[in-house]
Amino acid sequence: MTSRHLSLLKPSGHLTLGNLLGALRPMAAAQDDADCVYGVADLHAMTITHDPVVLRARTAELATLLLAAGLDRSTLFVQSRVPAHAQLAYLLECVTTTGELNRMIQFKEKGRGVGSTRASLYTYPALMAADILLYRPARVPVGDDQRQHVELTRDLALRFNRMYGEVFTIPEIVTPAAGARVMDLQDPTSKMGKSAADTAGVIQLLDSPDVVRRKVSRAVTDSDTGSEAVRIDQDRKPGVTNLVEILLACGGSTAGLTTYGALKKAVTDAVVAELEPLQQRYADLAADAAYVSQVYATGAARARELAAPVLAAAEAAIGL
Ligand code: AMP
Repeated sequence: MTSRHLSLLKPSGHLTLGNLLGALRPMAAAQDDADCVYGVADLHAMTITHDPVVLRARTAELATLLLAAGLDRSTLFVQSRVPAHAQLAYLLECVTTTGELNRMIQFKEKGRGVGSTRASLYTYPALMAADILLYRPARVPVGDDQRQHVELTRDLALRFNRMYGEVFTIPEIVTPAAGARVMDLQDPTSKMGKSAADTAGVIQLLDSPDVVRRKVSRAVTDSDTGSEAVRIDQDRKPGVTNLVEILLACGGSTAGLTTYGALKKAVTDAVVAELEPLQQRYADLAADAAYVSQVYATGAARARELAAPVLAAAEAAIGL
């Protein structure tokens, strides 16, 4: 049986080079030997104050970017078009305790004790559990930041099965080999993130070559000079290390590079070359919105088919 890969990305900002190297590229590679189900998690982008117009635009941009990044052999869907996600989330809330939700790091950091916190920021871990359990993946690869969510997903599935009957497959948590982790060019000790308020150190996938050049040329380095200055040294040279790793991940090489100016030029060229075909495909797809809609409609239909028996079994078991 082919294994199933599942991944949902939240449209909470413009995708970055970090998303490309750390998520989209491995997602594309997985298509060779797995049944890949990938989604745009629009419901998850509503746990904090949001603007409906912006949400819709970001959802469309992300949906188009996933296709432009080569995920054209996957089942692609937008989460809200598959109502089973929200429906199963409610059933799972019925086996989740407030104690468990109080312990979730995101809620502790962003919402606890703040009167205006949306209830959805509190309950979204149940939605995330539904996102996973509906598709019965045998394994869920998670980075450290997502581990707590998948552990909760397992706990909820086990509890549901124990209380109401065997409905859910319990996913195994697997830790992928440390992948590319792209750091912010202005603050190389923190991740290049799509929700960053300041984008000076964040390369977005749709940045023009000029913008890429400007951001890379202003990247933080250090005051080393000499023929050994351009090298990987995570502890002492985080900025230069990040640039070198970006260069290598984009198919470049440090051979012959001795100055930071030369390094930055090589990084700019490699990143621009990496983004160019993706941006070209994005422009073509954006001009053909009917095609993108068709792909997502077909994907949502398949996702609904995959999810339906799991939701039906859960409903029957719990007494609906
Ligand atoms: P996020 O943008 O944080 O919601 O993450 C979406 C996906 O992109 C996850 O698989 C992350 O691991 C990956 N990702 C996000 N930022 C980076 C980054 N700076 N470097 C590598 N992978 C990243």
